[in-house]
Amino acid sequence: MQTHTAPAEIEAFRAEVRAFLAAELTPALREGAARATSVFVDPAVTMPWLAILHRRGWAAPDWPAEFGGPGWDDMQRYVFAAECAAAGAPSLSPMGLKMVAPVIIHYGTAQQQAHYLPRILSGEDYWCQGFSEPGAGSDLASLKLRADRDGADYVLNGSKIWTTHAHFANRMFCLVRTSTEGKPQAGITFLLLDMATPGITVKPIRTLAGEHEFNQVFFDDVRVPQANRLGQENDGWTVAKHLLAFERGGKYAPPLIARLRQLEARRDVDPLLQARVVAEQVRLRALQALELKAMRNDAGDRMLMASTLKVLGTEAMQRIDALACEIQGPAAWAMPNGQTPVDEAVAVPRYLNDRAASIYAGSNEIQRDLIAKALLR
Ligand SMILES: Cc1cc2nc3c(=O)[nH]c(=O)nc-3n(C[C@H](O)[C@H](O)[C@H](O)COP(=O)(O)OP(=O)(O)OC[C@H]3O[C@@H](n4cnc5c(N)ncnc54)[C@H](O)[C@@H]3O)c2cc1C
Repeated sequence: MQTHTAPAEIEAFRAEVRAFLAAELTPALREGAARATSVFVDPAVTMPWLAILHRRGWAAPDWPAEFGGPGWDDMQRYVFAAECAAAGAPSLSPMGLKMVAPVIIHYGTAQQQAHYLPRILSGEDYWCQGFSEPGAGSDLASLKLRADRDGADYVLNGSKIWTTHAHFANRMFCLVRTSTEGKPQAGITFLLLDMATPGITVKPIRTLAGEHEFNQVFFDDVRVPQANRLGQENDGWTVAKHLLAFERGGKYAPPLIARLRQLEARRDVDPLLQARVVAEQVRLRALQALELKAMRNDAGDRMLMASTLKVLGTEAMQRIDALACEIQGPAAWAMPNGQTPVDEAVAVPRYLNDRAASIYAGSNEIQRDLIAKALLR
């Protein structure tokens, strides 16, 4: 999809989005989004917002129109993301809309597309990601969760770990081992499964902050129909790489620009800290330009671009978290109560939670390794 909308049309589109947000984004939704400190916002906040977007036909800006996308070009999609962030809209879980949907569109059968995609748009299905295992993180290809053929099913045994929101999800997309022959990547298969299937147990893992976001998921003789396979048996690595480019890439700059605007609006800030805020704004404009380029079909190597955006976006996020704490000074560290302004109440929890950003979706060390391999080959 190419950028072609004229500037005047873009401004008309921006006005349309602003009017929609002013009418539909309730104070409760804004408050829920502002108080979110976690990797993903609580579904109690995001799912009502998804329902509102879906009614308008705007739930999946990046999907092709034939599958339920609004048919926008790159610039409209970026403006929409920027306006949602500036208005303080909750960010939706990416697992369904931005991660599994693109691979269902690319590799799914017509039947799989017709079954799963509408359920993602309507919120009927909430997805989690079963990639990492206790012995397979950065070295994902060493995963061991076994899937043995038995009649028309696969039978799964093993476990997945760090599975974010598995306790909310009714679906999981999952990488399983179907062969131990040849290279480890060659024996992996991509499955779509129902979390209510007998034999699946979800056990919470609490973060240091005491929150329950992720889990270990155990599989004990879990039967998954072979019809739930996405792509060919033993070719799941190809599907997973396609998905990871969507997980790592994306639009990091819009919400960070919105956060910096809040920091800029403060009057009592030390000039040296103000200068750092301005420097971050300049860096974010450069990131924004790169993100817009990445959305174009002719952007080049998708994996290279996604790894680059992931490193730049998450490192900017962590610098801005630190800056927010410094600007607020000791107030950021005080125990928040009902009277504490939202930006002060969330600064430290966000700082702590966002330490994970350089680990999840493949650590930044691994991304740098991938970038080096792509550029130096
Ligand atoms: C908040 C959060 C949510 C997550 N949610 C999910 C989820 O929903 N589903 C899912 O499947 N996974 C999830 N993960 C797991 C995530 O993908 C892994 O944590 C990540 O891939 C790193 O793997 P690991 O934790 O096993 O670390 P390891 O692979 O053990 O790495 C440990 C350290 O060594 C470094 N390292 C490892 N190998 C190399 C190398 N070759 N070169 C240089 N440095 C190296 C790493 O960068 C890291 O700093 C989540 C993680 C976090 C933190």
